[in-house]
Amino acid sequence: MDKEFAFDSDGLHRAVELMGRDFSRAERLDLPTELPPFGIGSSAALTALAPSILGGAARLGEATSFAHMDPPTPWVTWAMTLWNASLNQNLLHPATSPVARQMEERVVAWLAPFFGMNGGHMTPGSTVANLTALWAARECAGVTEVVASAGAHLSIAKAAHILGLRYLSVPTDANGSMDAGQLPADLRKSALVLTAGATSTGAIDPLDLACRAAWTHVDAAWAGPLRLSKFAQLLAGIESADSVAVSAHKWLFQPKESALVLFKDTEKAHAAVSFGGAYLATPNVGVLGSHGAAATALLATLLAWGREGVAQRIEHCMDLARRLSDFVAADERLALYAEPQTGIVVWRPGDANLFDQVMHQLPVGSTSTTSIGGVKWFRNVAANPSADIDQLITIIRNVLPERAQ
Ligand SMILES: *Cc1c(COP(=O)(O)O)cnc(C)c1O
Repeated sequence: MDKEFAFDSDGLHRAVELMGRDFSRAERLDLPTELPPFGIGSSAALTALAPSILGGAARLGEATSFAHMDPPTPWVTWAMTLWNASLNQNLLHPATSPVARQMEERVVAWLAPFFGMNGGHMTPGSTVANLTALWAARECAGVTEVVASAGAHLSIAKAAHILGLRYLSVPTDANGSMDAGQLPADLRKSALVLTAGATSTGAIDPLDLACRAAWTHVDAAWAGPLRLSKFAQLLAGIESADSVAVSAHKWLFQPKESALVLFKDTEKAHAAVSFGGAYLATPNVGVLGSHGAAATALLATLLAWGREGVAQRIEHCMDLARRLSDFVAADERLALYAEPQTGIVVWRPGDANLFDQVMHQLPVGSTSTTSIGGVKWFRNVAANPSADIDQLITIIRNVLPERAQ
């Protein structure tokens, strides 16, 4: 047997040991510009790559990391990723992945009921989940257009474009939620997309609009996991949708790429997005062909933590966001966009001229920016349960000019 394909305990231990080292300053890697004719060997490749790969990335679990929807990941998912890579199962073929397919079915069966859905499948992200759901909407309900709010994620317009559907954008209200009063009256040929946790603002569209259109899809990529927490009621109404997208690599703390598309009537929806090539034992459901066992990491996390463990971490994140927004609301030098609905805090200095100056003094990875109606805002996203909110508040306070006397 070729040794490169065998279990190499020393090599793998070394890889794990390197993960624990502090490569905090990324070293530039001198890579050959052309494919090298001869290799340096796997151990040398590990040593060469470790400082730049492990040192060249933002640390999403560090105290000031509070900028993006990308969470730190629990270590059990690192182990599952390693196991998955070694097995390289393809969920397209039941013969090579009997257990992995069952794991995906189980994960979906555990999570779908929180959203009032009866099944679905995993996708590499909500971009693909949204595309899959709108594809099912076109096949099952004959929709000819997609209606979404101005705060909807760009993947919705992208899906409409790919599917040849018209795209209609509905204005948002002052909180960033869809302004229901501006919806077209006739939605009999429309897929209505309601966003639960807008990417920019965290706003939730009025979910009681579900059922008004030929098909309702809830894009809960960000805020969907709140359904497992004490904040489940924020997404009340989601159970009336025809389909739901949730990114597990956001608020379920999974490594990329991991998401779910869920359906109210899964049998019908899956039949509508299935193709059965002659060489396949079972039909190919959804957009992807070959795909891996992302479900194992999610299953391990849910088994390790239980619903309660997931809820605690999300509720803690919600609390961090609340404390930051309370601070912003109380400081007269700052303006809060709106009360945060789903752990996203949008704010700016009251004096717009200070924006760039403040931005340059905030630690990298602590805060992102967004533009709403042409106005620039800072944006904090509570995806990191280990964030130290007092430290972030102190930093923000210190970069602001002294209060006018
Ligand atoms: C992140 C996001 C998406 C896209 O999801 P990916 O997992 O990045 O593909 C879609 N909709 C919303 C509201 C999002 O926040």
